[in-house]
Amino acid sequence: MTQHVRRTKIVATIGPASSSPEGIAALIAAGMDGARLNMSHGTHDDHRTVARRVREAETASGRPIALIADLQGPKLRVGDLAAPIMLARNSSVVIAGEDAAQADDIPVSPAVLGTVLRVGNDVLIDDGHIKLRVDAVERGRARCTVMVAGLVSSHKGVNLPGVPLPIPSITRKDLDDLEFALELGVDFVALSFVRSASDVRALRTLIEARDSTARVIAKIEKAEAIAALDEILAESDAVMVARGDLGVEIGTADVPLLQKKIIIRALERGRPVITATQMLESMIHQTEPTRAEASDVANAILDGTSAIMLSGETAVGEYPVEAIEVMNRIACAVEPSLNYRHEIPHAADAPTIGQAMSNAACDIAEALEATAILVPTFTGRTASGVARLRPRRPIIAITHQAHSLRHMALEWGVTPVEIAETDDVEDLWDRALAAARASGIINAGDRVVITAGTAVNIPGSTNVIKVDIA
Ligand code: ATP
Ligand code: MG
Ligand code: MG
Repeated sequence: MTQHVRRTKIVATIGPASSSPEGIAALIAAGMDGARLNMSHGTHDDHRTVARRVREAETASGRPIALIADLQGPKLRVGDLAAPIMLARNSSVVIAGEDAAQADDIPVSPAVLGTVLRVGNDVLIDDGHIKLRVDAVERGRARCTVMVAGLVSSHKGVNLPGVPLPIPSITRKDLDDLEFALELGVDFVALSFVRSASDVRALRTLIEARDSTARVIAKIEKAEAIAALDEILAESDAVMVARGDLGVEIGTADVPLLQKKIIIRALERGRPVITATQMLESMIHQTEPTRAEASDVANAILDGTSAIMLSGETAVGEYPVEAIEVMNRIACAVEPSLNYRHEIPHAADAPTIGQAMSNAACDIAEALEATAILVPTFTGRTASGVARLRPRRPIIAITHQAHSLRHMALEWGVTPVEIAETDDVEDLWDRALAAARASGIINAGDRVVITAGTAVNIPGSTNVIKVDIA
C-alpha cells in the first residue's frame, strides 16, 4: 500500500519568522505548496529576496511551488508607528489621515478618514481585534473611545464596516507592487477587497499587458463580492475565502456558511479555492493547535476547499514549520472521508466534452480501483476539470509548461509532473506513464486511467480515455 498523497494544498505566508533560506526550505519539506508574499507588509527588497529563496528551495526539492503576490487593494492601514501602542478599554484615542495626524495620533493611510468618518461609526483594527467608536471628527482627525482593547502595531488593517471608501480598487501602491511582482515572475496575483467582476478584469488586463502568465486570485472579503460571486468567479482563476476581513465586514457569525457557499460555487466552476485566516492562530505562540482550530481546518477540507492557508502563523509566529505539519496531519486524517462529487449532468446545462470526459475518467478509475488518474494538460485546466469532481484516486497532471506546473501546485488532489514536449499521442502516453512512475505515486504494474486529446497540445481538446498498466 502506497502512502496517502495529501490532496488539500497548503499555502504559507512568508514573513520574518520564515524568510531565511533554511526557514523556507523547512516549510517546503514540511509540505508547503504555495508561498504567499503579502504586499501590505515588508519591502520590495524583502520580497525579492524571499522570491529568490523560494525558487532556490523549489529547485532543490524538485516539487513545483506556487509563488503568490497578495496586493493590498483599497484597504486602510495603520501607518508607521515608532512603537506598538497599547489601547486600554474606555480610553480615548485620536486616529487621523496620515496628512493630518499629530504626535500621539494613530496615523491611517490612505488619508481619507477625516472625510468619511461620522460620529457613531465603528473603527476596527487588525481583523477586528480592536474596536473604536467615533465620538467627534474635526479637521481630518477623529477622536474615538476604545470599545475593545488591544495592541496596535504598524500596518495593521483598519476597517470601517458599511462606510464606502473613495479609493480605487487597484491603488497606486497596487500598480507599483504589481509591476514588481510580475518582474519577480509570480504565478498568482491575489487582489484584496474585490467588489465586482470588473475589478478582476482590470487586474487581468494589466497582467496580460505585461505578457505575464500569472493567474488572478479574487479575495472574497466584502458583502459586494458575495452579491456578485458568480460573475467574479467567471472572471477569476481562483478565489480566496479571506475570513479575516470578511468577518469584520459582514459579521463573524455569517462567515462559516459563506465559506461553504463560496467553496461550493468555486467547485461548480472548477476554480481552486483557498480558505484563509486564523486557521491555526494559537500556533503563533503554541506548538499545538486548539481543538477548535483542528476542527476548523478539518471542516474547511470537508467543505471541499482546494487549499488551506497560514498567515501570521508562518509570517511572524514562533512555530511556522509545526503549523504546516499540523495542517498536513489533519488533512491526511480527514481526506479519506471526503465524498467523490460525481455529477450526473443535467439536461438543462449540457456538459462540455471536457466535463463529460472528466466524469467518465473518474468513474472508470473508481470502478477499476485504478491507482491514479493521469491527465496530460497544457494549461492545467483539464486537471482542474478532473479535480473539481474530487475523485478518490490521486490525479497526476502532466505538462511541459513550467508555469502550468506551478499553477497546479494549488489544485486539489493534483501532483504536477513535467515531461518534455511531444506532438505524438502514443509518445505522450509513454512519457506520462514514465513520469508518473518517477513521481512515486504509481509503481510498475499498477492500473491507471489516462486521458488525452488526439489533437495533442491543443488546449481543451481532451477526447480519449485509456486504461493502462504502468
Ligand atoms: P490581509 O488582509 O491581506 O490578510 P493581514 O494584515 O491580515 O493582511 P497577513 O498576511 O494575514 O496580514 O499576516 C498576518 C500578520 O503577519 C500581519 O498583520 C503582519 O503583522 C504579519 N506579516 C505578514 N507578512 C509580513 C511581512 N512580510 N513582514 C512583516 N510582517 C508580516
Ligand atoms: Mg484581507
Ligand atoms: Mg490576514
